[in-house]
Amino acid sequence: MSMEKGLISVDRFTESSQAYFLTHLHTDHTQGLTSKWGKGPLFCSKLTAKLLPFKFPDFNLSLLRVVDLHIWHSFSLISPTTGSQITAHVMAVDAHHCPGGVMFLFRGEFGCLMYTGDFRWEVDSERAKDARNKLLNVLKNETVDVLYLDNTYCNPSYDFPTREVAAQQVVDIIASHPEHDIVIGIDTLGKEELLIHISHLLNIKIWVWPERLQTMHLLGFHDTFTTKTSLTRVRAVPRYSFSVETLEGLNTMRPTIGIMPSGLPWVLKPVKGDGNLFGSLLTSRYKKRQPSDKLDEIQEFIELVQPTNVKGIVSSSSCYVDPLYYFGRLCGVNQPPKRFVYKNEGKRRGKKEVVVSYFESGSSPKAGRKKSRPVRVDYKRVNVSRASASRRVRRGAKIVESDCSD
Ligand SMILES: [Zn+2]
Repeated sequence: MSMEKGLISVDRFTESSQAYFLTHLHTDHTQGLTSKWGKGPLFCSKLTAKLLPFKFPDFNLSLLRVVDLHIWHSFSLISPTTGSQITAHVMAVDAHHCPGGVMFLFRGEFGCLMYTGDFRWEVDSERAKDARNKLLNVLKNETVDVLYLDNTYCNPSYDFPTREVAAQQVVDIIASHPEHDIVIGIDTLGKEELLIHISHLLNIKIWVWPERLQTMHLLGFHDTFTTKTSLTRVRAVPRYSFSVETLEGLNTMRPTIGIMPSGLPWVLKPVKGDGNLFGSLLTSRYKKRQPSDKLDEIQEFIELVQPTNVKGIVSSSSCYVDPLYYFGRLCGVNQPPKRFVYKNEGKRRGKKEVVVSYFESGSSPKAGRKKSRPVRVDYKRVNVSRASASRRVRRGAKIVESDCSD
């Protein structure tokens, strides 16, 4: 089964198509979309439709088609080859990613296709259980011919913490550094739960930039966030503005720790080769499971969907890994799962640990230029690796410049 070209575009807005679908509003999924864009009807979730005019102020709202979750919607297409009308159906499924984020399931004479966009599939969260049941219900009567999988995370060097675990780790870092300013890199959407968790546990407000404050208000968060820097030492800043250089600059004024919460690997680039150090940059992911269970979420998802074929979405990424390489056996393609390298630097109390070292600069502006004292911090089950985040690069971030490790 396949679809004729030029019928449907998902998260692509430059090519011409008859219907456009937007999974969520993260910048790497809205390439080509502008306030003036007007190529055709744009299908998205209700929340995305609410947030979109905020990102694209003069957007022609009459183009928006809201797709409710877990219900089939039909729409018409014209076959470019025969000129005949095709009725197609689309369903949005909660992607459990960022506000408004959905996956799309398409059904029509072209077969049944599923497009994930960015998604999480935490097997043990209530929300995911609910999404799972709904999806199972839909798939009872459908066979997904092709699953278009966001394969950013198909790289075996990526591992997911649960959100709770990751949030607790960030809280621990902030709480154990009461004298430090904390800068957290976030996107224009997403990580709200993390910030609220930090705010509640530490009883502090979180600074955000003015546009992000408006988004927070749109999302219904009214008390947690502020744009007054004097009220808090924790600031959530745009990910694209967050670089090691920025952090070094901040550290010449006040001791500052940068945290980049991400599904992507740790980035730690503190030293300029001479032992001087001005910034501490942490991006964090806890290892929840044993290495042999890596990619569990995606595997679980594919096993649930049972597609006939899987295709990767992020094929332009330098980290592109053909999902069939890892998951082909789930679709009946016989390939052995690849082993990956796991760097385990110690075993304590029966638990595997990986040691994270990071460094702090001096606590005064002048001390910033002095040779700093490396502080070794051990966090349980923290994964450290240097790996490419070409996806971030596509978003315009400048933080990561290292290679793709596995
Ligand atoms: Zn995203």
